[in-house]
Amino acid sequence: MGWDLQLGELKEGYGTEDDIWKKLNYFFFDAKTTTTYKYGFFKALLENIYMTTPEGFMSYDHLFYDFTKIYWNLVVHHQLWQSNTKSRRSVIQGILEDAQVKYEVPKDWRFDRLPEAVQQSIVQQVKKNGKRYVIGAFYGDTDGVFYAFHLKDETLQMSLPVVQFLKKYQRLVTNLTNYQLAKFLEKYNEDFTQMLTRVEQVSQRASLEEFRRLLQTNTGDCCFYCGKTTRQTLHVDHFIPWDYVQSDRLWNFVLACPTCNTRKNNRVPAPQHLTALYAQNAKLQQLVRMDYFYAYSEQKLQELYQFATSNGYRVWE
Ligand SMILES: [Zn+2]
Repeated sequence: MGWDLQLGELKEGYGTEDDIWKKLNYFFFDAKTTTTYKYGFFKALLENIYMTTPEGFMSYDHLFYDFTKIYWNLVVHHQLWQSNTKSRRSVIQGILEDAQVKYEVPKDWRFDRLPEAVQQSIVQQVKKNGKRYVIGAFYGDTDGVFYAFHLKDETLQMSLPVVQFLKKYQRLVTNLTNYQLAKFLEKYNEDFTQMLTRVEQVSQRASLEEFRRLLQTNTGDCCFYCGKTTRQTLHVDHFIPWDYVQSDRLWNFVLACPTCNTRKNNRVPAPQHLTALYAQNAKLQQLVRMDYFYAYSEQKLQELYQFATSNGYRVWE
């Protein structure tokens, strides 16, 4: 069962936490690994875990945007070899290295710095090959328990118990994925130091300017937390810390003055701020491109808030 499948159905009857842990153990420790695709794709799935429809559907375009961003940062930004043989590059490593040359992108650039049209053209190429080499293989490595998919229709429907599981254990599963990815990369990239740190930062953007612009235009120029205006540049703050969500969604961003931002640090804001964020998002939804709020709901934001605290993030009072 694996990479050449055109479609796969969800295996019924594996919805308990024990079942899912068992499949995850196989995925991480026993399934054959010849490239880093499965780890890159798992990171993209985790980045999109709050981007599922109520029925569990995820968008190929979102998934492969994040997959491409992660892979670009591994291959071009960090120059890391992605397969278990030095004689042959993985197909997607090849696509990205060739794109870097073709578009003359400086090697130290992170993916989000590329012009929008160039990003989209690369994502489409990666998606085409990801459909061929990644979705079916990941499906096989998780024994058909994580999602159903259909390549031709571009559908991927997550198992709802798996979605809940990944939300509940997000911090653990993210760290485990990073650890295994770093371990694999170390084997084939001997000259590199601090592999785990590189891997942990691989989802990060070079810049949050896009979000700053949207917030400043639509919510005004004062601090979300203390309400003061300041001459200093406002920070673009991940309401639920980036360290936890590992993704950048407009509905999780606020503008904060440097004082509040520094005080808040890596904590979750107090509950009254959550209510204020619902209101900010309701307003923004009327004003920005719909895609920024894909699959968003207040209920999801509330769930994210609760899971962040149960995953150990302290509340900033
Ligand atoms: Zn403030």
